Amino acid sequence: MKNISKIISTFFLIFSILLLCYVFYRSEIYSSGTKHDEYLRYYIISFILFLNVSRDVIEKRIMGRLTCEKCNKTFNEYFNKVEIDLHECGKNHLKKRKDDNKETIIRRYDTYMKKTKPVLDFYSSKSYFHEIDGSQKIEVITGKIDQIINV
Ligand SMILES: [Zn+2]
Repeated sequence: MKNISKIISTFFLIFSILLLCYVFYRSEIYSSGTKHDEYLRYYIISFILFLNVSRDVIEKRIMGRLTCEKCNKTFNEYFNKVEIDLHECGKNHLKKRKDDNKETIIRRYDTYMKKTKPVLDFYSSKSYFHEIDGSQKIEVITGKIDQIINV
């Protein structure tokens, strides 16, 4: 059961990153003006999933991220307190990444929102646009994505 939730959370993480890259790429095209329409001629869009997460939650997810230098498991000091206490390698091996700081997060988030906002505005009225509350539990988000994709 633990492995399944690990696979799902890994899948979800990869999916989120790909989605962010995709939306970011689209925003680059969109911000370059008429190229956007030109680009659309060659692709059929089935779904756009917008996983909306507040900056507050993103900050906690990144600022609280801890990785075990021994076994590579990741935890969050805000959301995984019990798992951290019970971790077999001990707390001393849990380290934070140097670039997981507030300034970097805020800068990344603001840039993302600035570049993505025009794309969201453009697509939000389309029938294939789906906004999902990304601050919910992974199982809930996975269920919603599954529902949308299997329609
Ligand atoms: Zn460990």
